[in-house]
Amino acid sequence: TLEITALEKRFGETQVLRSIDLNVRNGELVFVIGPSGSGKSTMLRCCNRLEEPTSGAIHVSGKPMLGIPRKELDRMRLQVGMVFQGFFLYPHLTALKNVTLAQRKALKRPRAEAEARALEMLDKVGLKHKADAMPSELSGGQQQRVAIARALALDPKVMLFDEPTSALDPELVGSVLKVMRDLREGGMTMIVVSHEMQFAREAADRVVFMDGGVIVEEGPPEEIFGNPKSDRLKAFLSRVS
Ligand code: ATP
Ligand code: MG
Repeated sequence: TLEITALEKRFGETQVLRSIDLNVRNGELVFVIGPSGSGKSTMLRCCNRLEEPTSGAIHVSGKPMLGIPRKELDRMRLQVGMVFQGFFLYPHLTALKNVTLAQRKALKRPRAEAEARALEMLDKVGLKHKADAMPSELSGGQQQRVAIARALALDPKVMLFDEPTSALDPELVGSVLKVMRDLREGGMTMIVVSHEMQFAREAADRVVFMDGGVIVEEGPPEEIFGNPKSDRLKAFLSRVS
């Protein structure tokens, strides 16, 4: 589970998140939509403290992310995997080395064990045959799948995706969505921020609509897309679809 309670975030005078409450159950895929600047990325970034929350609480599997010693925070962060729009692979390392490195550094896994785990995860995203390729030899969709494998190799309890397909050419989007669908079927707990509404309809357990730093409306995809209640959500949907 990932539990976000009364989360607030201010940047100076600007209040970006106001009293966000969101509980993600084990194996649940929560899909987040909302206009640009509504606070979607900030909410995800607060979940592993890439951004420091102003107040509130975040728990992963019942354990707090806030108010804990540095060493404990380093451990907790590993449980919250994050995948961004850009892939941020090391350009001078092979796919395999990219997936191995954090395991060696952060988890202190022995090389053989880290490589075995890396190959297993590359296989999971359909790229075992590209283990020795450099990032420059991979398509954007393949690079993003390596980034997903890298996050998965750290055995996270929760995976956060921030517009994972937005930087991809349309024909490459499907391969990344497929990996996310497979993960869901494998029981991974996920929050996905994305504009892929069709994916949300098919794969999301729940859709959350954010606007102005608050959750305006949430519900199953058929309700959110088929029977939106607030004017703000209606207006948003008419603009994006
Ligand atoms: P998008 O759909 O464009 O990615 P978003 O919903 O992810 O938007 P955020 O990136 O979370 O929105 O930004 C929410 C608000 O917080 C915006 O108004 C943004 O300008 C502001 N903001 C984000 N990061 C910072 C920062 N480091 N300093 C000041 N303001 C920030
Ligand atoms: Mg964003």
